[in-house]
Amino acid sequence: MKKESDITIIRKLFALFAKRNKNLIYACLLTDVVESLRPYVVLILSGILIDGFIDGKALHTLLLYTLIGVLVAFVFQFLSAALRKYLNARIENCMERQNQDLNTASLNIDYEYLEDPALQEKKRKQEQVINARGGIYWNLIWPLDRGFGGVISVLTSMIISFPLFFGNKDFQYSIIASPWMGLLLFLLIATTIWGIYASDQYSSKKGHECFEEFNQIKKAHSYIIGNILANSESGKDLRIFGQSKLIMHTLHENDKEAAVCLKKERNYYIQSEILNRFLSNFCLGCVYLYVALNAYAGFISIGNVVLYASSIVKCIDGVSEVLLGISGFKRVAQYGRDYLDYIDFSDRKYKGTLPVEKRRDNRFLIEFDNVSFCYPGTKDYVLRNLSLKLDIGERFAIVGKNGSGKTTFIKLLCRLYDPTDGEIKLNGIDITKYNYDEYLNLFSAVFQDYQMLALKVGENIAASDEVDHDKVYDALNRAGLEERFLETDDNVYIGKEYDESGVNFSGGEKQKMAIARAIYKDAPFVIMDEPTAALDPESECEVYAGFNKMVGNKTALYISHRLASCRFCQDILVFDNGQVIQRGSHEELIEQDGLYQKLWNAQAQYYT
Ligand code: ADP
Repeated sequence: MKKESDITIIRKLFALFAKRNKNLIYACLLTDVVESLRPYVVLILSGILIDGFIDGKALHTLLLYTLIGVLVAFVFQFLSAALRKYLNARIENCMERQNQDLNTASLNIDYEYLEDPALQEKKRKQEQVINARGGIYWNLIWPLDRGFGGVISVLTSMIISFPLFFGNKDFQYSIIASPWMGLLLFLLIATTIWGIYASDQYSSKKGHECFEEFNQIKKAHSYIIGNILANSESGKDLRIFGQSKLIMHTLHENDKEAAVCLKKERNYYIQSEILNRFLSNFCLGCVYLYVALNAYAGFISIGNVVLYASSIVKCIDGVSEVLLGISGFKRVAQYGRDYLDYIDFSDRKYKGTLPVEKRRDNRFLIEFDNVSFCYPGTKDYVLRNLSLKLDIGERFAIVGKNGSGKTTFIKLLCRLYDPTDGEIKLNGIDITKYNYDEYLNLFSAVFQDYQMLALKVGENIAASDEVDHDKVYDALNRAGLEERFLETDDNVYIGKEYDESGVNFSGGEKQKMAIARAIYKDAPFVIMDEPTAALDPESECEVYAGFNKMVGNKTALYISHRLASCRFCQDILVFDNGQVIQRGSHEELIEQDGLYQKLWNAQAQYYT
């Protein structure tokens, strides 16, 4: 894919920002106009006053000039303070806004991209930019603020100082009045500006390299803070194996390396700042000299000395601000590219438009037609030439060794991924043509690595803040939690992360809640991926015994390592190396000299 230019990235970032913050952009531009014009107004009025004084104007005229000057200065001061206050208050929300955008994107990204390490890296970088740089939007607004203010200053200065360079001059003081002198000064100013720009570019490039290095170093830090310290599960291992010293040492070393990087980055900016100041001060000295000589020669009035000198100074400052703004935009384009990529990741997949027929009789027939699949970014086929039908209302068991493709088969069925080759059909139509959300509504699943949120039990079961409590209790009862919820109500929080009064339910209880959530959804297909792994033998028996009642007339797919748990399923699919190598009832398969019989015999010795 062609890399977009920095300008396109900036334009897109502004478009995104303007969607909710148009007023902030206008306020920023207006603030710049007022703040940039303010010093000129004061300078012009002071010049008039000084000239009036020298020309011996009457006292009341001078007082009038003073009064007008003070009033105008006050209005400008008031306006710029009010605008700046408004701007600062709004800009503080920018970081929050970026967090919201990132969270919305994370929730909406298609599952297949969610596992992509490159995408995770993009997200991690954004978090670093928020933590260390104030976020994308802040980095977008400040260059606009500085750059546009600079443009106004440069234009105003050029208009004001025009007569100094090109006004009518008497040629008797040839060297000062010569247009070559003006040209020389102009060249000096241009060279200074170029020098400032080049040093700024260099420090910006080097600074960005340091920041990238800092980002890489902080990767280990984020892993420790996010995955180890924030996760109570790892607390057990940490304590038993006495790993805290190792963790603290790793964090400390990481912080040290990161600090070196930031110091290096700061040094580049400081060096560039020193060079820039030297260049601009030298240039300023020359400007003052030129203006003073012009005043001495009588080309300009004393009142205008300050005006011209300050205008040229402001012009140089303005150009530096514009350059600073440009390099600020360049920098934000670098982070912004990843940011836009990340938030654009949702909605990449074709979501289909066809409505899924609502059928009370649950007559949904699924068919895999020569389906093969390899995970994005890999070349090895995990499923190969799979052709099978899932008949309506039946109980299917999916068995096979680890890594044989059982979970991948389920992920394809639920359209978490699309097949690399072949088609999956629902009632004869390719599933990609159906409306994605409606299609997902056909499935209820309990995955091995199910997640319960630290919210209320009822909200978890209903997967919503609108909870039908009777339905929640019915699902909890059917999942075998009847006794547990005789005294506890479904408004209790799971765990204490969100609410201190929460209950730390056991692994088995949480797994039953995950089953209850699947029951509550009441979808035509029920998928259970090792649903009893965390249950004690008695609870496991309960789940099997109640399975038919739980599932009713729905089609159920059941993945398990324990073949004994699958015996109640009419249809057993044996997966091996991404293919279904055997299919039939337990009685049929046990008779065949194949993998099923081998697995069964291997497990049977533990049962007898
Ligand atoms: P099973 O459920 O039978 O244990 P899986 O379907 O989980 O097997 O995995 C099948 C194969 O796909 C394994 O070789 C596994 O390493 C690979 N695999 C699973 N998930 C991913 C993934 N996200 N990216 C790449 N390969 C994967």
